[in-house]
Amino acid sequence: MTKRILIAGAAQEVSTFNPVFSTYEDFNIAVGEEVIETKIGKNTEIAGMVEVLKSDSDIEIISSYSAGATSAGPLDQASWERISSEFLEALKPFAGNIAGALFAMHGSMSAENELDPEGYLLEESRKILGEEIPIVYTQDIHGVTTAKMLKHADGVAVYHTYPHVDFADTGTRAAKQLLRQLNDGAKPVVVRVPIPALVRGNQLITESGLFGNQVNYLKGLHNDPRILNAGFQIGNPFTDVPELCSQVLVVTDNDEEFGKEVALKAAKEFWDNRLEMHADLDRLEESVAKAAKLKGPVVFTDAADAPSSGASGDSNAIVAEMIRQDYPHTVLVPIVDASAVVRAVEKGLGGRITAKLGGNLDRRFTPIEVKATVVSASDGTFPLEKWPSIEQAGPTVVLEAGKITFVVFSRPINLVDRAPFYANGLDPKKFHSIIVKSPLCEPEFFDDWCQINLNVDAPGSTSADLPSLGHTICARPMFPLDENVEFSPEPQVYNRS
Ligand SMILES: [Zn+2]
Repeated sequence: MTKRILIAGAAQEVSTFNPVFSTYEDFNIAVGEEVIETKIGKNTEIAGMVEVLKSDSDIEIISSYSAGATSAGPLDQASWERISSEFLEALKPFAGNIAGALFAMHGSMSAENELDPEGYLLEESRKILGEEIPIVYTQDIHGVTTAKMLKHADGVAVYHTYPHVDFADTGTRAAKQLLRQLNDGAKPVVVRVPIPALVRGNQLITESGLFGNQVNYLKGLHNDPRILNAGFQIGNPFTDVPELCSQVLVVTDNDEEFGKEVALKAAKEFWDNRLEMHADLDRLEESVAKAAKLKGPVVFTDAADAPSSGASGDSNAIVAEMIRQDYPHTVLVPIVDASAVVRAVEKGLGGRITAKLGGNLDRRFTPIEVKATVVSASDGTFPLEKWPSIEQAGPTVVLEAGKITFVVFSRPINLVDRAPFYANGLDPKKFHSIIVKSPLCEPEFFDDWCQINLNVDAPGSTSADLPSLGHTICARPMFPLDENVEFSPEPQVYNRS
């Protein structure tokens, strides 16, 4: 008999410290067949789900609704209400006539008056689809799975890589769990162990860092038939919501004891490694002074203004310090500043403008005045190097101010690779110094050919100096926001059967 499986998605990662709200218009909305058509053939969770489901000739895939946006500030309430109602309305025609559902979620959404959007969607979806229908969702390693999500879902598949490369694989794992429930009668029991720690730093790189060993342990468990899914979440430290934390999530086939055993082992190891996994930051003034004396190329990692983590992208903190120190080298600087773009486009190529760059969105930055020449303009639409995403920065210009070259975007976009430079005719290898607004990039993008990567302690809404942000909502005490935090692991069990 044909089994109908519904696929839907809702995904955004927000920094609640970014003062600019996200709106409905920031989202790519797909309805009906578009949900799948726009994702298959790419490294996406939905493509992974579809691949597994297609291997079963008795399955019919129902493509429902998806809403996805680049990371940014929290969603304004009206936009959230519109997205959530569209998501839920799209489920209603299928109530009572589907066998299961798969949701591709990020896990770090937050709205003005809803601090657990994905939990709300799962709770309401459960009401619509019924208690008997298996629902499995996917999340980012930076997601914040909550008690509400687990209460209303049968399980979760989480990325196993950082930087993330296993989007499709994660969708595959979610779909496999669903099929084991439908075809083999698997009974999911989820064990969750929250850890009161938030960490940022190079040890989180799963290929090379300490965290990678811990993830590999959970990944290896997938060969054990007792395990349906297992993974870590380190949360997005910038999404200040009640259940923000790191956590281990293990979905077993009706084996609570085994779930607890492996989840506790993984959680304790994570806790023991927390100090080593925490970022070492280079002081801003010293970084600039040090790089001035280096042959180069030098990468200045400005993770505090990473749009991919939810920041506004309009920090000028590092370049302002370079100007202050009369930095002697060429520098490539990505920055968001819509009004400067408008003025540059009006002047035209070759024109000279005086622009006040930065700090238009996030007022913690003071605009810097630069006299610059407009050297190019583009529509700001381009694919990233590896992520399956087409970025839409809006009108974009390149401004040259002496040794400093600014790529100025109208809107924040993912600055996780070199594509934003290449798309504007710029080769980062031709600069002595490059400001990179992403906490970690794949090595071939920059690290493989740069002399040094300075992880700069600059201000910003996604700063790795977590105590500088001022969390007020997440559970306390929390490492490293508080002193002398203790960890007494308490596994939580979710069993829907
Ligand atoms: Zn992530």
